[in-house]
Amino acid sequence: MREVLLRLEELLFLAAPEIRVVSVQDDREVIQVGVRCRTAGARCPGCGSWSGRVHGSYLRFPADLPVAGRRVVLRLRVRRFTCEDVSCGRRTFVEQVAGLTRRYSQRTERMRSVLAEVGLALAGRAGARLADVLGARASRNTVLRLVDALPEPQPRIPRVVGVDEYAMRKGRVYGTVLVDVETRRPVDLLPDREAGTLAAWLTEHPGIEVVCRDRAPFFAEGANIGAPTAVQVADRFHLWRNLGEAAERCVSRHRPCLRATFADSVPEKAPAPAESGSPWPTGHRFADRTRAKHATVHALLAAGHSRRSVQRQLGMTYRTVQRMADAARPEDLFQGQWQNRRTKLDDFKPYLHERLDPLGRDQGAWLYRRLWSRPRPPPAVSHIPDGTGSPSTVPTHGRRMDPDSPRHTAGERAPEAEIRPLRLPRTGCPHRARPRVREDAHPTPG
Ligand SMILES: [Zn+2]
Ligand SMILES: [Zn+2]
Repeated sequence: MREVLLRLEELLFLAAPEIRVVSVQDDREVIQVGVRCRTAGARCPGCGSWSGRVHGSYLRFPADLPVAGRRVVLRLRVRRFTCEDVSCGRRTFVEQVAGLTRRYSQRTERMRSVLAEVGLALAGRAGARLADVLGARASRNTVLRLVDALPEPQPRIPRVVGVDEYAMRKGRVYGTVLVDVETRRPVDLLPDREAGTLAAWLTEHPGIEVVCRDRAPFFAEGANIGAPTAVQVADRFHLWRNLGEAAERCVSRHRPCLRATFADSVPEKAPAPAESGSPWPTGHRFADRTRAKHATVHALLAAGHSRRSVQRQLGMTYRTVQRMADAARPEDLFQGQWQNRRTKLDDFKPYLHERLDPLGRDQGAWLYRRLWSRPRPPPAVSHIPDGTGSPSTVPTHGRRMDPDSPRHTAGERAPEAEIRPLRLPRTGCPHRARPRVREDAHPTPG
């Protein structure tokens, strides 16, 4: 029997040679391994002096890694020693097995590190479920606590660092996030977006060659002070955003010119004559749906159901039920986008309705690509503001419809055919005829 236990010692506790296995109990669910420490004494954690005076002993039951899918619990007898150094604040202390136990822990060190790895991969709830399957039972909070107790990883100092702000409270409190651009991982968070804080961080991390930032003056100043030798570049996202904003401002200034250019080329459609006081004749998809909902809500209310009950039964928001209930006629709900305004989409509507998925699946991006690939109506009505919407419609509309991110777009160039219609208003603008007038210096009309 002793031979078997010796073999177990080698197998299970190779990294802790001071452990001696004294018994093994198997009660089907849990394997209990009785162990004790074979050293004569222990070192006091308070003063570091060695003591062999045993004060007492008790049993601990730390969970260990499972064996063959079954849970293993150590039955560890630990001794409490008396510290013999009179100047030491501790009177007694309990021995710990290096690499196996720690104070207060209900798990061995190797069990803790395995659970922490599971937690890093899967986080709390899923991690706890997997650990249970593997025979290492732990609650989700325990898994998260073990991840939390891991030492902070020390990231290497990046060569190219990206600097941008992040919101702790949008519009009020901002901090600075630093990203290693090469590994695309965040490196550090700074509590504010001051030049001094960034400069201090850069000074503490010498060796940064490139600072990639937006055009905020505090980042420029911080980078100049903290890393004077580093090259500063504007990142692609901010370049595109600045360009977009400049284009929007430009279009906004030239709005009267655009209106004048296209006033005669776009025949303004008169809104459909209202029959029976409703701008939406029966047979219109949205109008019919609203009429049906309105009727259902009012029928339920008339049957004595409360608004809350109607909300639950129809799966609507309370606000929608309220609006439906307050409207005497469904036509009262046709406001805002319901008015018969002319939109850029009007020319494409028959084409889109033909191809809309009857199941209502999201296929906006697909339809958009199809629109581009089909023969187009004259450019004046398709891709240029026709003077009926606000100037901000152009970028907003594009943002909603464009399936590509600026990152993708940056690598591509629009085909000449798509650029040409956009050039038209610039050449048609009377202000452009003046020589060497900068966009910024353009007189604001009106
Ligand atoms: Zn001591
Ligand atoms: Zn102009």
